[in-house]
Amino acid sequence: MRKKILAANWKMNFTDSEARAYLESFVSEIRDFNDDVDVVIIPPFTAIPVVIAASERVQTLRVGAQNMHWEKSGAFTGEISATMLRALYVRYVILGHSERRTLFGETDEIVNRKVKAALDAGLRPIFCLGESLHERDSNQVEEVLERQIRKGLAGVSGHDLTEVVVAYEPCWAIGTGRTATPAEAEEAHVFIRSILVAISDRTTADRVRIQYGGSVKPDNVEQLMRQKNIDGALIGSASLDPRSFAQIIHSTEDAIA
Ligand code: PEP
Repeated sequence: MRKKILAANWKMNFTDSEARAYLESFVSEIRDFNDDVDVVIIPPFTAIPVVIAASERVQTLRVGAQNMHWEKSGAFTGEISATMLRALYVRYVILGHSERRTLFGETDEIVNRKVKAALDAGLRPIFCLGESLHERDSNQVEEVLERQIRKGLAGVSGHDLTEVVVAYEPCWAIGTGRTATPAEAEEAHVFIRSILVAISDRTTADRVRIQYGGSVKPDNVEQLMRQKNIDGALIGSASLDPRSFAQIIHSTEDAIA
């Protein structure tokens, strides 16, 4: 059984005091929440200490980062390393998000370097992949997903692979309000798992959690979470409201009850 994992990607939102206010409200919303689902908050770097402090009060809450550099240290102005994140007790890091790929030119090779550096430092990568609308319309979904997995996870095997959380995020569903149907998402997840089998083995691939991301909201999450190969969600816009993120957690608990 794979434990579901819900991760809130705050993107470039919230100062540290805004994060504090969010957490006040969020912690009271999830008071009766048990440990059936992993919950991760992924704030901008500047709010990480505030979320870490909250995670010390709420044992089930984990903290992630939105990006990192692949080198441990050095002359890389403006960058943050995996070692620095680990020193703050960060557990997860988003890598290969479509906004990093399209707006900041991150290639599969760059993402692969980051994935390996994160694993070496003891961080769990949330490895994002997904096709554009054009790629979907021209029947290239499987080709694109296979390339992203084979290149992005090259050299990652065995136990390390089970530490990776894969996030399937079709670009046409991110921030657009348009969600993949549960059946469309499940079909992509089954395909992704088949490629994970091809690069490792059935037992290892069956242990990898595959999240869905793209306009997940309180009113569509339950059906998505009922799919056999959907092991959680990466949530952008709907995670910016603490009540709506808490509702997503509760609906996920209902889906697995
Ligand atoms: C994301 O950016 O990872 C995301 C899924 O965003 P949204 O939920 O807003 O589509």
